Amino acid sequence: TNGVAPCAVEEELEPEEDSAPEGAHPIQIVITNEDDHKFELDAAALEKILMQEHVKDLNVVVVSVAGAFRKGKSFLLDFMLRYMRNQSSESWTGGDDEPLTGFSWRGGCERETTGILAWSEVFVVEKKDGTKVDGRGCSHHDQLCAGVYNLSQNIQEDDLQHLQLFTEYGRLAMEEIYEKPFQKLLFLIRDWCYPYEHGYGLKGGNCFLDRRLQVKQNQHEELQNVRKHIHSCFSSIDCFLLPHPGLKVATNPYFDGRLRDIDDEFKKELQDLVPLLLAPENLVEKEIGGAKVTCRDLLEYFKAYIKIYQG
Ligand code: GDP
Ligand code: MG
Repeated sequence: TNGVAPCAVEEELEPEEDSAPEGAHPIQIVITNEDDHKFELDAAALEKILMQEHVKDLNVVVVSVAGAFRKGKSFLLDFMLRYMRNQSSESWTGGDDEPLTGFSWRGGCERETTGILAWSEVFVVEKKDGTKVDGRGCSHHDQLCAGVYNLSQNIQEDDLQHLQLFTEYGRLAMEEIYEKPFQKLLFLIRDWCYPYEHGYGLKGGNCFLDRRLQVKQNQHEELQNVRKHIHSCFSSIDCFLLPHPGLKVATNPYFDGRLRDIDDEFKKELQDLVPLLLAPENLVEKEIGGAKVTCRDLLEYFKAYIKIYQG
C-alpha cells in the first residue's frame, strides 16, 4: 500500500473543542505572537501527530486551508473531515440533523489568536492500484501540499499581494530545501454572487481566475509582477466558486452545522469541492528518483522551514 495521510492545517487558532469521535481534535502546531509577529513551531506537538507508529513511514499529503478569519475555513474543514471518515459512502456529507464537529467554528466578529492548527488524526488512505502514476505532469512534490486559499466574494488585489508575500518566503525555502514548496493552489471564493457571469464550481472559477490573473500591458508594473510571481510559484492553480450557504449558516447563532439548515445549492457544490481535494485518485503520488516524503520527513521539513520564516 501507499499510504497517504492528509492532515488539515488551519491558519487560525481556536480553543480546543473535543467533540470529534475518538477524541481526535485540533492541535496548535504553530504559535504566533500578535505583538511582535514572531512565531514558533511546537515541534513536540507536531511530532506526536506525525511520528505515530502506524503512519510515520507512510507518504504524506498535507491539505491546508488558509485565509482571513471568520470566512468559513473551519466549517469547510469539518466537511473535509467528514469526507475522510465516510468516503466509501455516497452520502459522506452526513445526515440532515447531524451537527458538524471537528474544528470549532462560530460566528461573531472578534478575531482570535492566529497560528496553525493541525488535526490530531492522520488518515491512512489505501490506493487501489500499487502504481504511482500522475497523469497531470506536475512536479515531484505535487502531492505534498494542496493549499486552499479561502476568500470571501472576490479576489482583491490585496489578496494577491498577501499571497505573494507568503510565496516570497517559499521561494527562499525552495532554494534551500526542495525545488518547489508549493504545488497545488486552489482559490476558493465563498459567497460568490455573480453566477450569471461565471457559474459556480471549478469551471466557472477557472474562467474567472484566468481573467483575474491575466497580465495586461496597461497594468501597473507592480500588479504585473504579482501575477507573474504567483504563476511561477505553483505547479497548478485553480479556482472554485462556492455559493452563499444561506442565512442560517451566516447569521443564526444557534446554527450547529446540520445539513438541513444549509442551502441546497451550496451542498451541491460542496459535494464536488471536497472530493476534488481529497478523493484517493486526486491524492496520487508521484515518485522521482525514489524520493518519497513521509510523515517523518515532513516533521524535519517543518523544522527547517520554520527557521527560514523566522529569518
Ligand atoms: P473561520 O474563522 O474562517 O474558520 O470561519 P468559521 O468556519 O468559524 O465560520 C465563521 C462563520 O461563518 C460561522 O458563523 C459560519 O457559520 C459562517 N460560514 C461558514 N461558511 C460560510 C460561507 O461560505 N459563507 C458565509 N457567509 N458564512 C459562512
Ligand atoms: Mg476557524
